[in-house]
Amino acid sequence: MRIILLGPPGAGKGTQARILMDERGLVQLSTGDMLRAAVASGSDVGKKADTVMKAGGLVSDDIVIGVVEERLGQPDITNGVIFDGFPRTTAQAEALDKLLAEKGEDLDAVISIEVDDNAMVDRVAGRYTCAKCGEGYHDAEKKPAVDGVCDKCGSTEFKRRKDDNAETVRARLEEYHRETAPLIAYYGGKGKLRQVAGMGSINDVTSEIRQVLDAVG
Ligand code: ADP
Ligand code: ADP
Ligand code: ZN
Repeated sequence: MRIILLGPPGAGKGTQARILMDERGLVQLSTGDMLRAAVASGSDVGKKADTVMKAGGLVSDDIVIGVVEERLGQPDITNGVIFDGFPRTTAQAEALDKLLAEKGEDLDAVISIEVDDNAMVDRVAGRYTCAKCGEGYHDAEKKPAVDGVCDKCGSTEFKRRKDDNAETVRARLEEYHRETAPLIAYYGGKGKLRQVAGMGSINDVTSEIRQVLDAVG
């Protein structure tokens, strides 16, 4: 199964992708995570991406498509993949169509998580993750059961992204509307689009996505 989670920063793409990964044996392909790893490693790709990401812009299509193409060639992508944060431009969507067609594959569904833009600044500003296992948390919406201890792995170390501040979020939301929101019509035209309400609780959103997956899978 190959699905895309589409939505602005803070919509819950990463949160839902991790839940589905555990439940359905799919691999989460997050271009944001892959680019952050490239930045941390100091590679050429990382150097080019770093400044753009700090400013809340979009990394060039060539770089991102290259990173995805390489990832899709790796052997763990057998049961399927959840694209999280990719594609973000029409050029990326077209490149993905081509990459999949070459393998004789197709997308099963593009799930657009519909949220209220104004709420996304608080979602993103309150976001943090476990430094060890990557589990996502939120200052108000999703705290660990025991204060300061990761529910999943017991680690006491957490981290926040440098670009998760109110100013950069606004730039990212603008990029979303300019470059990424047109993909809703792109996939709508191909009959792939499924819209889910993203302002409910994390569990409610998961239930809606499960229904979509059960219907297409
Ligand atoms: P995205 O990957 O789309 O940028 P995340 O999954 O990282 O978004 O979620 C952003 C923040 O909002 C995280 O701190 C997460 O815990 C929280 N969050 C995710 N989904 C919900 C929801 N349905 N209701 C409230 N908070 C949520
Ligand atoms: P969020 O879900 O909060 O928007 P991501 O982790 O998906 O954040 O992305 C963080 C940053 O990485 C983006 O603001 C952008 O600079 C870069 N990035 C991630 N995915 C892409 C992509 N598909 N195309 C271009 N830039 C990307
Ligand atoms: Zn953890």
